[in-house]
Amino acid sequence: MIKIAIQSKGRLNEDTTRLLADAGITLGAGHRQLISRARGFDMEALYLRDDDIPQAVSMGVADAGIVGLNEVEERGEPLRTVMRLGFGACRLSLAVPKDAGYDGLLWFDRRRVATSYPRILSRFFDSHGIRAEIHEIAGSVEVAPAVGMADAIFDIVSSGGTLLQNGLTEVHTVMQSEAVLVAPAALQPDKERDLDKLCFRFRSIIDSRGLKYVVMNIPATRVAEAADMLPAMKSPTVLPLADPAWSSLGVVIPQDELWDRIEQLKQLGAQDILVLALENIVR
Ligand code: ATP
Ligand code: MG
Repeated sequence: MIKIAIQSKGRLNEDTTRLLADAGITLGAGHRQLISRARGFDMEALYLRDDDIPQAVSMGVADAGIVGLNEVEERGEPLRTVMRLGFGACRLSLAVPKDAGYDGLLWFDRRRVATSYPRILSRFFDSHGIRAEIHEIAGSVEVAPAVGMADAIFDIVSSGGTLLQNGLTEVHTVMQSEAVLVAPAALQPDKERDLDKLCFRFRSIIDSRGLKYVVMNIPATRVAEAADMLPAMKSPTVLPLADPAWSSLGVVIPQDELWDRIEQLKQLGAQDILVLALENIVR
């Protein structure tokens, strides 16, 4: 049995629950309870605030955790990043008031910067020889300059809308983050095996996201041309139809290429093109 710490509520909770569900693992009512026994995998979920997940894993309260890389870096616990999970993307950036006359990183020297990530920020300033005053505040960092608590901020940015609303401009990105699966440097062999199984399931789900399976009818004389043009896992699947003039062609196509490919295929005479959602790729 493996115990995984996940965020009890907040931005990572929904995507975490979905990833587990796609991996065939469902959790009980959750949220209001601390621990929930999973169905579909020999696992317990431990619901925590994201701030507490790195420590819970390094102390062995949980065997692994799903948390933002930003929290992992900030807590500085000795953890192994087992896998990036492809959701919860954001960046940690420095931002200054629009009219601050920002002219490069040295602008921050001797200035006051408000943040909830003092450790990441001080490491960054140290590495650039900048001596700034770092003020740690727990929330609403973006209002600190307007109320006179700070000259600038260092905070999480995803779209930039919050900065804009507060008259701030993003001037430097310090780190990119996303949700990650973390574990202690070493686990007991049986737990490590469970973690491997979990990773195998997660990997197949993550690899299949953004891919479509496309099946079409195509004149038999154009199959070779279509096969040359298309991406495929090994090569496209080609099946004869009852009518020897036609074949059925099946191929995996990344979502962002889909419509260009469909247009090319139509020009080769493809018809009856079915685009199917791909749930899993098990390699
Ligand atoms: P908790 O109550 O668990 O402490 P929280 O309020 O600290 O939650 P959330 O706002 O739920 O944290 O964000 C959790 C994580 O989601 C962040 O640490 C970050 O990795 C990621 N994230 C992605 N986009 C954003 C965003 N726009 N703002 C904040 N966090 C984001
Ligand atoms: Mg938190």
